[in-house]
Amino acid sequence: MRFDVISLFPEMFDAITKHGITSRAIDKKIYVLNVINPRDFTQDNHKTVDDRPYGGGPGMVMLAEPLSQAINAAKALNVDAKVMHLSPRGKPLTHEKVMQLSQQQGLILLASRYEGVDERLLDALVDEEISIGDYVLSGGELPAMALIDAVVRQLPGVLGDADSAIEDSFVNGLLDYSHFTRPEVLTRPEFDENKSVPEVLLSGNHAKIREWRLKQSLLLTRAKRPDLLAARSLTKEEARLLQEGIKEQEQASLQLKGT
Ligand code: SAM
Repeated sequence: MRFDVISLFPEMFDAITKHGITSRAIDKKIYVLNVINPRDFTQDNHKTVDDRPYGGGPGMVMLAEPLSQAINAAKALNVDAKVMHLSPRGKPLTHEKVMQLSQQQGLILLASRYEGVDERLLDALVDEEISIGDYVLSGGELPAMALIDAVVRQLPGVLGDADSAIEDSFVNGLLDYSHFTRPEVLTRPEFDENKSVPEVLLSGNHAKIREWRLKQSLLLTRAKRPDLLAARSLTKEEARLLQEGIKEQEQASLQLKGT
């Protein structure tokens, strides 16, 4: 897959190209990331990329012309790629959207700054706007990196078995279950009430472990993201495990009150 990003701050992308899974995926030639700086398409000595808004008001607006040339340069390298603008007014970036984007051969991402971009550029050259949440960041670079990281994780060969994405949150409409690692018993006093690993995880009984994890997943989703549970129909097994888990939680809280 190929990403061409239009950004005034190409160095920011070192965060994903030089570290971790997203860096190793470049080494394995699973994807290519190229950053194009709109300043390289300016004609004046100051390399101006922004100007004051017509009609007045605070802040600056990105100029359409250097951006259009940067996007055209990206299109020449990334033929047939959709042009996506990272913007608070875009469609939310969800797991479904990530899966859909991971099927593309290439994407061109416009990471803007200041108050935003001259609307005429968006109308003429942008296919879709994507938001990473209902809050405002200072620029589109972090949203673009969030999108690239999420999409790259889904490309074949990026994750080994050890960190496979199939059990991640949202993949099956639920949150991920809780994880535990060594040591089996934590000794510092702050862990007194939570010092041991749940016994089932030490049992070696894979069927029981799978059931326990699924139950955990259902209970966590019910507690933290009831909207996800409401949007999903449960299998018979899931409905049974959820009911069991709710009863167990009720019994545990009754016992606690009794002591
Ligand atoms: N005036 C704009 C508004 O209120 O919608 C905010 C501009 S913001 C300071 C500068 C740039 O950061 C945006 O044009 C966009 O590229 C990016 N950005 C900020 N928040 C974002 C979000 N939640 N999702 C995606 N991009 C975002």
